Amino acid sequence: MKASAFSYIKPSTVQETLALLAAHGEEAKLLSGGQSLMPALNLRLSAPEWLIDIGGLDDLRGISVSDGVLRIGAITRHVELLRSSEVADNAPLLAQAMAHVAHPAIRNKGTLGGNLAHADPASEMPACMVALDAVLVARNAKRERRIPATEFFTGVYETVLAPDEMLVAVEVPVAEVGQVHYFHEYCRRSGDYAIVGLAASAVVEGDRFADLRLGFFAVGDRPLLANAARELIGRSVDAAALAAAQAALEAELDPQEDQQASALMRRHMARQLLALCVATLLRRPDLEIRRSA
Ligand SMILES: Cc1cc2nc3c(=O)[nH]c(=O)nc-3n(C[C@H](O)[C@H](O)[C@H](O)COP(=O)(O)OP(=O)(O)OC[C@H]3O[C@@H](n4cnc5c(N)ncnc54)[C@H](O)[C@@H]3O)c2cc1C
Repeated sequence: MKASAFSYIKPSTVQETLALLAAHGEEAKLLSGGQSLMPALNLRLSAPEWLIDIGGLDDLRGISVSDGVLRIGAITRHVELLRSSEVADNAPLLAQAMAHVAHPAIRNKGTLGGNLAHADPASEMPACMVALDAVLVARNAKRERRIPATEFFTGVYETVLAPDEMLVAVEVPVAEVGQVHYFHEYCRRSGDYAIVGLAASAVVEGDRFADLRLGFFAVGDRPLLANAARELIGRSVDAAALAAAQAALEAELDPQEDQQASALMRRHMARQLLALCVATLLRRPDLEIRRSA
């Protein structure tokens, strides 16, 4: 199938783009890497009157570190993020997770801003942003607003972005000393969207979590920052504490059923991932073995 007819425009500045969005936002779509939008156009799942190509806005590209914040421009491509030493040093969870996003051909074109704005609940980056307590920076012609990742995603392919707004950057707090992370996803083949995944960030002091942020994905209509983590912070973790955390997690989950997995299977995988994550971060293989038995 071919896309419906649309008008194409390639602005050369951010201001020009925002003016176009102010005029046509309801009928327009931003084109970034095109890796999700082009298939949607060709399948006629989306039929905008205007396509605003932001691929030339170099102001929105690039990765920098300043004042304890890693800033990634919205049109920074997946491959750039994957190869960046700034990302590897300051937000290793992102580098690790990005290796699981699609395939090289798609990572060469896809952008971080496009990925987050697309808001696929099975996508890796939204869960990482939630786990890392990132802030998403959005702009319209009049103002800029900063949105915590935990408030950005509102449903399947839905975000708080207004039709006249675009994402310009993402800001991630630089990893502090002692911060560790965990990433794992279950999928049918490498590069596929996850069936269930977990991106976690933690601070471990001795045998305890001083902090733990669990970003589950593909277990609901948006990434989930699991409150279950509270069961595990500031205490010695034993099998009973882990079981309590798993029960708390179950209560938070609202997994969908699809061709890949039943809701029951997703619940089981999420519980399993929680045990694996805790055992790995605390270096306590006994916890994982007990839960798997
Ligand atoms: C075969 C295949 C496998 C894939 N597997 C995975 C996977 O495993 N995990 C994963 O996470 N992704 C996967 N993807 C998606 C890929 O990561 C996309 O590139 C990404 O989701 C969208 O980024 P993009 O830059 O291509 O955005 P586009 O396709 O250009 O845009 C996507 C949406 O975001 C909007 N948008 C784009 N930029 C902005 C902005 N700056 N501000 C506001 N709105 C904006 C667009 O208007 C559109 O609605 C896969 C894609 C394909 C084709």
